[in-house]
Amino acid sequence: MPAQLALVLPQFLKLLTQKGQMLIIKNLRKITVLLSVVSALFNLLIQPATAASETTVSADELKQQPAFPAEYQKLSYPQRLDWLKQQLKTADSAARIYQLSSEMGFEHFANYANDKLQLVCQQTKPEKFDLQYRYICAVSDNNSYDDSIRQLMQLYDDAINAKNIDLATQILSGVAWKQSSNGDIASAFRSYELAMSLAKQASPEALNDVMLNTAALYVMHGDKAYVQKGVQLQQATISRLEALKRDTPESADYANEILALTYHNIGVAYALHLHDYQQALHWFGLITPNNKELRRSSLVFSALSAAELQQKEQANNLLTASLQAPKSTEVNTDYLDCYQQLVQLKLQGVAELQPCQLLNTQTPLEVSLDLYKRMALLETAEWRLHGLEKLHQLFIVKLEPQLKQSATQSASHAELSRLQLESELKTQLLEKEQSLKKAEQEQHQSQMMLTAAVLAILLLVLLVITIQLRQNRKLAKQFESLSVLDGLTGLHNRRFFEQNIQRELNFVRRSQQDGTGHTIAFYLLDIDFFKKINDSYGHDAGDEVLVEFARRIKLAIRETDMLIRWGGEEFLLVARLEQKTDHHHIAERIRRVVNQQPFDIANQNTIPVSCTIGAVVYPEAGHDVVQLDWHHLVQLADAALYLGKKKQRNCWVCVDNIVDLAALDDILQQDLEQSAQQQQIVLSSKFDATTTTTS
Ligand code: GH3
Ligand code: MG
Ligand code: MG
Repeated sequence: MPAQLALVLPQFLKLLTQKGQMLIIKNLRKITVLLSVVSALFNLLIQPATAASETTVSADELKQQPAFPAEYQKLSYPQRLDWLKQQLKTADSAARIYQLSSEMGFEHFANYANDKLQLVCQQTKPEKFDLQYRYICAVSDNNSYDDSIRQLMQLYDDAINAKNIDLATQILSGVAWKQSSNGDIASAFRSYELAMSLAKQASPEALNDVMLNTAALYVMHGDKAYVQKGVQLQQATISRLEALKRDTPESADYANEILALTYHNIGVAYALHLHDYQQALHWFGLITPNNKELRRSSLVFSALSAAELQQKEQANNLLTASLQAPKSTEVNTDYLDCYQQLVQLKLQGVAELQPCQLLNTQTPLEVSLDLYKRMALLETAEWRLHGLEKLHQLFIVKLEPQLKQSATQSASHAELSRLQLESELKTQLLEKEQSLKKAEQEQHQSQMMLTAAVLAILLLVLLVITIQLRQNRKLAKQFESLSVLDGLTGLHNRRFFEQNIQRELNFVRRSQQDGTGHTIAFYLLDIDFFKKINDSYGHDAGDEVLVEFARRIKLAIRETDMLIRWGGEEFLLVARLEQKTDHHHIAERIRRVVNQQPFDIANQNTIPVSCTIGAVVYPEAGHDVVQLDWHHLVQLADAALYLGKKKQRNCWVCVDNIVDLAALDDILQQDLEQSAQQQQIVLSSKFDATTTTTS
């Protein structure tokens, strides 16, 4: 195996591994050779020429070779080598030479003589069918990392094809070693885990081997959780080994050897990685004094643990024992000297730095790291500086590639988190977009509702306006109708008169034309001395007189007659006449209805009231009516009224006929009596109850 694989646990494990592997390999060799013989024969049948030219020794020939004697198994490593060399001198066939040489290779492999193994492998190249020999040559090869891995993976495929699961497991284990020693810890973890799953179908020894190797990797390169996982794996192996011891007593030596190694490795995991010194002491304590290879190492680490726990006496004893224990001849354990110095420093306050400066690339990484860290924490500046410098170097040389590896993993973690964050952000964006859309929809909806509301309001307003307009029209109509009435008396006013008088005049004209001979009379009525009533009884009493006056007149006339409040205390009556003399009766009836009974008004006042009436009849039967309009008739009635006032009051004066229509202007400008005398008109009157007619 390459030098850089010399880590503390791997180093012990390598011991285990190669010895364990030898055990497995030797058991399996016969079977595989048999399988290979079948395979070789098959190849010969299919491609005899090619197979023959490439193969110097066939599986079949190899199988024909005599087995090694039983005494050979009892020989030591150097003795075996001597024996094999002797046999080679007399070997007479290529197959025999191959058998002896490859066996020598296995001996070197089992005893860590990598250089010698390499030499053997170069001289006697492994046959394709000889998978085990190919394996030990491959793992001892100094090829480049990539080539080694490729070679091992090819071998792995061949082992799987040959259904040699044990070997396939060991190859994967070997691949993992290479990967971990090359700093590719992540790949190593993967390879080990694959090897672990494969090893479940393999022999118990192969599984133990892989379990311990995997555990070692977890302990060396894992975080706290992985170290604990590694310890658990080692404890599981312990159970398996104890079961093996119980079930197959002949495997007891092998089991005990590996058990001691496992106890040691668990102790190291606790002392160097988990810093649980109590546990460390427990596991180191399980190693019996007769285990020479592990004795010194476990004593040194125990002394360290006891010192850390401040158990000074125990630490002193352990340190003394460790100083007396023989050093391992097989592996470099110089670093233990440094630990001894550190324990001594802790216990006695004085120590030499010398052994700690001798640590080199042979020193296992986890040990260097642990030692330099401890040195960096010491009080003496010189030690501290040395520790820190070494830690720095270690970082540059060994840890940096590993850190890069884990940095790559971290980077992929970071990438993963970034992608996760991105997807979270995207989800948030999507949610925001959706809520925006929702808000938009809601806004749209509320806008629609607003529009609908506005429209509804507009319709309502329109409706109200329409109703109001209708009401206004109705009101206007009411006003209109009101405007033709007098507010005080309820009689029609002058406006009503103006609107309707023409119709009356037309009626009269038609009547004259069709021979029915209807005439009408205009009467102007004026209350006498009304000013005095106002003055004597007040304006309100005056109003009451006006109302009562209108009521009485209404009673005296027909419904079809037109009674108008002409203004102030003046009234106009337009009455249709059926007989020629009717107009005198009407005038007289009015005069009387006013004057006969005094007016009863508020405050129980009784007021005597009279009125003067001026009238005009229109037209004289058979007379041409076209010339006159209502203004002239009112003027004539007014003139008659004026005459009545002038003469007496409480009387009536009537223009019965306008004889000379052409003189109308003169008539209107001069005194009526004068016109009567000139026979322009016919005038009648009633003063002091006497009716007089003048023409
Ligand atoms: P004559 O007999 O000459 O008609 O006398 P006279 O006092 O009635 O005369 P004149 O026409 O000068 O006075 C009319 C008065 O009627 C004047 C005015 O104050 C009053 N008068 C007009 N309209 C009303 C009204 O609506 N109510 C009241 N109480 N008085 C009114
Ligand atoms: Mg008047
Ligand atoms: Mg008057």
